[in-house]
Amino acid sequence: MKKHNYSAGPCILPQEVFEKSAQAILNFNNSDLSILEISHRSKDFVAVMEEARALALELLGLEGKGYQALFLAGGASMEFLMAPYNLMRENGKAAYLDSGTWASAAIKEAKFFGETVIVGSSKEQNYNHVPKDYSIPADADYFHCTSNNTIFGTQMKEFPDLDIPMVCDMSSDIFSRNIDFSKFGIIYAGAQKNMGPAGTALVVVKEEILGKNGRHIPSMLDYAKHIKAESMYNTPPVFPVYASLLTLQWLKNLGGIPAIEKINNAKADLLYTEIDRNPLFKGTAVVEDRSTMNATFLLDTPLHTDTFNAMLKEAGIVGLPGHRSVGGYRASMYNAMPLESVQVLVEVMKDLENRV
Ligand SMILES: *Cc1c(COP(=O)(O)O)cnc(C)c1O
Repeated sequence: MKKHNYSAGPCILPQEVFEKSAQAILNFNNSDLSILEISHRSKDFVAVMEEARALALELLGLEGKGYQALFLAGGASMEFLMAPYNLMRENGKAAYLDSGTWASAAIKEAKFFGETVIVGSSKEQNYNHVPKDYSIPADADYFHCTSNNTIFGTQMKEFPDLDIPMVCDMSSDIFSRNIDFSKFGIIYAGAQKNMGPAGTALVVVKEEILGKNGRHIPSMLDYAKHIKAESMYNTPPVFPVYASLLTLQWLKNLGGIPAIEKINNAKADLLYTEIDRNPLFKGTAVVEDRSTMNATFLLDTPLHTDTFNAMLKEAGIVGLPGHRSVGGYRASMYNAMPLESVQVLVEVMKDLENRV
């Protein structure tokens, strides 16, 4: 049965990515070898890595602007500590926006390296909005923010203009909407939300901000070393990188970020319109900060939970329960989700209203 997969991550990827990935496991580039058994230093895999790095920069509009793209292991959570290790001076400080659980996990790691100044927090309101009107100390080594708060369904719509490097965790909305990516010193994203399978993180680094904090950084945690080694300092996560490349190629063929942004906006509009219209549902995030990627909502009464859940199941909708810290429902509508799947969800919500 056709499934409509709303999982928050790992999550839906384009069908053609699954098919081409499966083919590469059996016979990569007509070599009669699996991509899983060849050397990462082979000509064929080096070409995969180079194309993936170049295409990531191209799609973000960052080619020729002093940036390097890396595919590292360890997920987004590894970048929570690599960013401060590479940017914070000994006894230095960094500014953080506390907009959700992941932001707060990043703050926790940064504290191992120096002082963290929390310039704004929405924790007291269970992160139902993105803090605004914050000011960032000019002497901070960098400012860290999270573009999309996957668990709470909020998204930053604006980013400050700063004279210090801006570091952004874009795990759950990278390649989903147009942003002036050249504002950032470091952008990182775990692959498994909008780009590929779990096992790698894309890290985009503006080279000129590195090498300034005077720390001795262990090799595997040193962005400069990874850049010098062209993202092959050690054996990279070959399969996640390959599947990520396929997703980036799919996106490019579709028309890149401007094309997918239109589709993402249409999906989000459709669902939020129904959440607001249907008296049985209510959204949990403040309207102006609602995420186009993860829509969080509740049923007005627990009385309808069993009926709604049964109807979801019947319609082939999976992965809709909210994060355990929020409850309710979360519809993750990443790039690969077709509008049709959102139409199916909205129909189920309308049917529930007619039935109860
Ligand atoms: C999922 C997620 C993470 C954690 O990613 P890992 O790759 O599992 O470390 C970090 N930040 C955000 C915004 C996320 O959505």
